[in-house]
Amino acid sequence: MTKKLYILIGTRPNFIKVTRFKELSSKYNFDVKIIHTGQHFDDNMANVFFDQFDLRPDYFLNVGGLSPNSQVGQIILKLEELFEEIGKPDFFMVPGDVNSTLAGAVAANKLNITLIHLESGLRSFDKKMPEEHNRIVADNLANICMVTEPSGLENIKDENIQAKTYHVGNTMIDTLVKFESKIEESPILEELALIDKKYLLCTFHRPSNVDAESQLKKLTSLLMALTRKGKVVIPLHPRTRKMLMEFDMLSELEENTDVILSNPIGYFEFQKLIKYSQVVITDSGGIQEETTYRKVPCLTVRENTERPVTITQGTNSLVKFEESEILRFVEKVELGNYKSGEVPKFWDGQTTERIYEVLCEQ
Ligand code: UDP
Repeated sequence: MTKKLYILIGTRPNFIKVTRFKELSSKYNFDVKIIHTGQHFDDNMANVFFDQFDLRPDYFLNVGGLSPNSQVGQIILKLEELFEEIGKPDFFMVPGDVNSTLAGAVAANKLNITLIHLESGLRSFDKKMPEEHNRIVADNLANICMVTEPSGLENIKDENIQAKTYHVGNTMIDTLVKFESKIEESPILEELALIDKKYLLCTFHRPSNVDAESQLKKLTSLLMALTRKGKVVIPLHPRTRKMLMEFDMLSELEENTDVILSNPIGYFEFQKLIKYSQVVITDSGGIQEETTYRKVPCLTVRENTERPVTITQGTNSLVKFEESEILRFVEKVELGNYKSGEVPKFWDGQTTERIYEVLCEQ
């Protein structure tokens, strides 16, 4: 009998984690529907990924642009309405740690639908991060936890979470493996005149790094300092662009010809930039994993990470938001003294298959 798996997505990192479920659905006898909340809704943060992945959401909840509370409330209400209309699925899956994840988990729990949390068990142990609350709620409401790395298993055990828990690996890496030839074909290096050039790739969007004027001053000064080491490529997250404009710091960066500023870019282009960069400097969650898979040095400008395997096994290091420390790490990379890393277990492009195998056993 065909089983119904409905997947809730809302943001850029969500889209990137669910690219293979429809493709494999008939092999495992599943009817898969994708529900997009609309949390990220514009061309650069959403539509480009749907086009590149040929990921067509079946239902759209249209909650973009609302405050976090309204968004969460609306998603819960609209999911209830949707399930009244189309019927409840056998499994409802929420990936990641965003507001859509939290709202989807609450809705499934109240409607008594079997909830799967994809990318379960990650913990930064930093309650100042909204993502940490979203993860904790989703894990505590989940019936099935799909875990990317060993720390996830430990955290779920330590918190006495009762869900069935499986270490299946990382569906973000499935997407990288699936689209490798498209990534390689991307002409982004030619377009940015970076062929055979040393460049550093940066992304910053966490509120703790970009919301205060003092932090943004540090960021602009860091980017300027990094130009001593090569071209600095920074596709700006909408939040970071807005804050730079608000504090009148954008033009200074735009005027520096060694800083390549852009809007957020498509997946294939961004992955190609990661693959050939000398070092990536970021505060992203997912990019810590993608660089570990690529064995590209990654400096994560945060006090903690919820993805510790990228440090213990991979190419990631946590660094303070201090120019001298970051430059010291970049120099280690230049001298060939930086760790080379190993790819964590089950980060092999086959995680979606492992998830289906688990679901077939339920
Ligand atoms: N990404 C992208 N284009 C960009 C910046 C990031 O395709 O301009 C991808 C990146 O490779 C990763 C995902 O977006 O797969 C990470 O998203 P983000 O950093 O916004 O979220 P986080 O992982 O921090 O939740």
